[in-house]
Amino acid sequence: MTRLILATRNAGKITELRSILATAGLPHDLIGAESYPDIPDVKETGITFAENALLKAHALAQATGLPAVADDSGLCVDVLNGAPGIFSARWSGTHGDDQANLNLLLAQLSDIADEHRAAHFACAAALALPDGTERVVEGRLKGVLRHTPTGTNGFGYDPILQPEGDTRTCAELTAEEKNAISHRGKAFRALVPVVRELLG
Ligand code: IMP
Repeated sequence: MTRLILATRNAGKITELRSILATAGLPHDLIGAESYPDIPDVKETGITFAENALLKAHALAQATGLPAVADDSGLCVDVLNGAPGIFSARWSGTHGDDQANLNLLLAQLSDIADEHRAAHFACAAALALPDGTERVVEGRLKGVLRHTPTGTNGFGYDPILQPEGDTRTCAELTAEEKNAISHRGKAFRALVPVVRELLG
């Protein structure tokens, strides 16, 4: 059985990709990066989600000698020309302060009417092999931004993104409902033929 490593310590992401690979009938043993605690974090110096996902996947494949998957994602707001984009996790200046990031974005958009509040979550998922072979795929979840946060599930900007065709925000969806439509779910599912092509 081929082993595959995912560049994350987030158990939710590992479970999601493992179940997508299993559903597709791919017999790969997916492990998380916590199995290699000494590997340093990679600097995300890319200027696109795809570049950052590839950087992380290559670094992990080189360090472990295993085929490696990495993802990079964020929120892209039309009226902000795609920002916060790759800066989504540190939009307010502090990396990973979800509440501050969301509050700053809402303040910036406070005068923007509903019809101009289109946005999407984007995710790039990359597969890199130790020999340098690489592939990258992308997924999107389109929606509109609410004026007030609603819902308690999920993380990040989930309480303000209302997916197209729904009346709830992402933070009001169950994990299963969100995985079925999410940018990450779509990108991970798009990886299935890539894994099949490169790893059999
Ligand atoms: P990462 O690539 O998973 O680390 O995500 C980067 C940042 O993008 C997160 O810190 C969030 O601010 C935002 N983000 C990415 N995906 C989602 C999502 O599914 N819901 C809400 N926020 C997200």
